[in-house]
Amino acid sequence: MNNETFFELLQRIAKWIIRYYDNIESYPVKSQVEPKEIYNKVAKLDNQTPASIDEIMSDFEKIILPGITHWQSPNFFAYFPANTSPPSILAEMLTSAIAAQCMVWETSPAAAELEEFTLNLLRQYIGLPESFSGVIQDTASTATLVALIVAREKKSSFSINENGFDGKNYRVYCSEEAHSSIEKAAKIAGFGRKNVVKIATDENFSMQAELLEKSIIEDIEKGYIPCAVVSAFGTTGSTAIDPINEIAEIALKYDLFHHVDAALAGSSLILPEMRYIAESIERADSIVFNPHKWLLTNFDCSAHFVKDKETLIRTFSITPEYLKTSVDEQVNNYRDWGIQLGRRFRALKLWFVLRYYGLEGLQNFIREHISFAKYFAESIIAEGDFELLAPVNFNTVCFRYIGYSEKTKIDEVNEKLLKTLNDSGKIYITHTKLNGKYTIRFVVGQTNTKKRHVDAALELIKQTARNLV
Ligand SMILES: *Cc1c(COP(=O)(O)O)cnc(C)c1O
Repeated sequence: MNNETFFELLQRIAKWIIRYYDNIESYPVKSQVEPKEIYNKVAKLDNQTPASIDEIMSDFEKIILPGITHWQSPNFFAYFPANTSPPSILAEMLTSAIAAQCMVWETSPAAAELEEFTLNLLRQYIGLPESFSGVIQDTASTATLVALIVAREKKSSFSINENGFDGKNYRVYCSEEAHSSIEKAAKIAGFGRKNVVKIATDENFSMQAELLEKSIIEDIEKGYIPCAVVSAFGTTGSTAIDPINEIAEIALKYDLFHHVDAALAGSSLILPEMRYIAESIERADSIVFNPHKWLLTNFDCSAHFVKDKETLIRTFSITPEYLKTSVDEQVNNYRDWGIQLGRRFRALKLWFVLRYYGLEGLQNFIREHISFAKYFAESIIAEGDFELLAPVNFNTVCFRYIGYSEKTKIDEVNEKLLKTLNDSGKIYITHTKLNGKYTIRFVVGQTNTKKRHVDAALELIKQTARNLV
């Protein structure tokens, strides 16, 4: 492709992006296609003959776009936010143009140094002390896997790294509300699912710390090796907060590695008024949160902070001592900070976002969403025929409709309510189960969600629920 054509196409794509955002509210938020619909349409194209970008774009609009669930729609209130923003998109364009492999400092010094710098800045923004070092992982799942592997090596004095598994039962603790990525990480890191101990939660869906200690004591008596505990700062189901300080105390007492999964809610720590709920977070050994969820940075960008970077690097490094150079002492070679060797230049979009919005802009963004969630919760409760099923700690409201006389059918009614709302294409919301109850989750966090979108969603939910019965 010559430069002239490329430039024209760049302009075309730029126009497409602007039109997409202008019209985004006219698409059904949740894609309405059937399974295999997209696959079959794409497979029918003449895929082997070279095609013009014109043709490809036309197929993109006709075939691909209907199969997109519009996560950037301001009417997307499902799962969790997956933010992007203009500065992030612009930086991603540059990243894909430069297309550098950022595995070690030398392969792009700017990437390594910007990663170090942006994470230092983020670390300060969320109130973590200088003793923490940051690395960008692709996802929170990977950061948690990395954390559990480090925990394993720390506990076995690097013997598993060297000799493989020793048949002992290394135990991992988390709450029964913990994210599935913890069990997955335990599975992959060789702990085995049977060694994941799920601790019961209290009425707020937070881990009961005294039960954690009880489990640890019982495990020690059985000859098991308590190795790691993962506490949640904002569970996926209801954004519950585990008692991080008490868990830290227990981790210290029994020599457990303590990882905090703050994937979604960690972004809220940039607000000084939110920090008290994570008071002792700095006592943890590692913490992960996702700017790619709720901090205006597009996927993937997971901020992983570790207290003991030497142990992390020793766990993942494959460079023998004698190959270390004088430069290595001064720089970060991030291939040694996790699983991947090849790495994208993910710090660039984070830097664009941090600079463009500034701390205050980011704070306003998060603060507004939290206030919208509280507003939604108060408004829906005031109706009298809805109830909340969990505290509203951040941006997530867990509720259900109860204005139905046959109480045994409440789950069914709410399931139907959710389906009707999502099939309307006007909003997208998802569900969970809390205490065995079918729970609708309303999550505020999209980049362009304003109060009018929350108000419209409220009206739609109320009317749809009442029309159902
Ligand atoms: C979203 C989420 C995850 C998984 O995040 P990924 O970056 O997609 O791996 C893990 N834990 C919690 C609490 C989450 O909300």
